[in-house]
Amino acid sequence: MIRKTRLYTPGPTPLLPDAQFAMAAADIHHRTPEFRALFQKVLAQLKVFVGTSNDVLLLSSSGTGAMEAAVTNLTSPGDRVLVLTAGKFGERWTGLVKAFGCQPDVVSAPYGQTFDLDQIRAALKPEQKAVFVQATETSTAVRHDIEAIAKLRDQMAPNTLLVVDGITGLGTTRFDVDGWGIDILIGGSQKAVMIPPGLAYLSVSERAWAAMETSKNPRYYFDLRKERKNAVKGESAYTPAVALVAGLVAALDYIAGQAGGDLEKGRIALVNNAEVNAAATRAGLVALGFTLFAPTAPAAAATAVAVPEGMDSGTVVKALKARFALVTANGQGEMQGKIFRVAHLGFFDYLDTVALLGAMEHIAKDTLGLPVVYGQAVEAAQRVYAEAVKQ
Ligand SMILES: *Cc1c(COP(=O)(O)O)cnc(C)c1O
Repeated sequence: MIRKTRLYTPGPTPLLPDAQFAMAAADIHHRTPEFRALFQKVLAQLKVFVGTSNDVLLLSSSGTGAMEAAVTNLTSPGDRVLVLTAGKFGERWTGLVKAFGCQPDVVSAPYGQTFDLDQIRAALKPEQKAVFVQATETSTAVRHDIEAIAKLRDQMAPNTLLVVDGITGLGTTRFDVDGWGIDILIGGSQKAVMIPPGLAYLSVSERAWAAMETSKNPRYYFDLRKERKNAVKGESAYTPAVALVAGLVAALDYIAGQAGGDLEKGRIALVNNAEVNAAATRAGLVALGFTLFAPTAPAAAATAVAVPEGMDSGTVVKALKARFALVTANGQGEMQGKIFRVAHLGFFDYLDTVALLGAMEHIAKDTLGLPVVYGQAVEAAQRVYAEAVKQ
């Protein structure tokens, strides 16, 4: 039978056709009025998508480039910082701050869990220059409570900057950037905004700009002050990924179009879409007898599923690919073989969820030998969907 390739990976995610057409047509030079208009449009759209009155910058790099920019622009060698880590992306913060000579205090949570807020309260110190955290830890599919963490920062270390990796959080969970005082919030193009890898975007608060006046870590390509100066003119400091910028405008237009042209409402609808698909997926997989890896604080960006004891999650990933051309993600690092992950962020609809669960019923029965009644996962998801759209 025909097998359509479908990505269910938490980055890269499925591409929006409108964005693909816009990218193919983007044969423009970056120092022209045409591109300046496009760049100014996308920066204005990103402010609404992030939901902030802070500056939002766009960088031609993967998400990690913006994470590095946050570290190098805000800190100096020898600075004490706090890293909150609960998985592979949290560990990336630790690696990054160490690479630039910072001294990290670390609060960690076991894989599959979020933080104990009392531990964060005890670890926050006014001497810390910044606290680094993920909004959603994609390696374990856990959601962290950024609002609560921001409040603790306000109480215990009000001058400490809050830097949030929202690379899979943006478009899947709610933020109040200005209200909570998030100093830098980072997003990436290959996640909820439905375009290929290659762009990172970040909001930067006035306090963060002020910190850059005295921070001493080296930076050149990722010099945010230089990008800010150029952005005012509708340009980037170096050659931007022009086609991706055109794709991003088309994607943000599409997201706005889901709510009658209102991008703020479109962003809220996109988050709700991910929430419903995630809840339906969790219900379906539990009905099939799987165990959720992050049951207490599940992200809407992705779902991580543990396979029964003695089984290898790679078997599920391989079988879904071989039989249905369905691409899911194995666990990262130590979690490889123990969990598999499916995404809900960006261009996923309810029928994508039904398709995945239908495929999982076949794999659970034929590959894993579980006692499956056809329809049991799909039915559980349908109940969640029906309840969610009732209001
Ligand atoms: C995808 C992702 C990143 C960025 O990774 P890149 O490969 O550099 O784009 C960072 N943090 C989280 C939480 C992610 O999901």
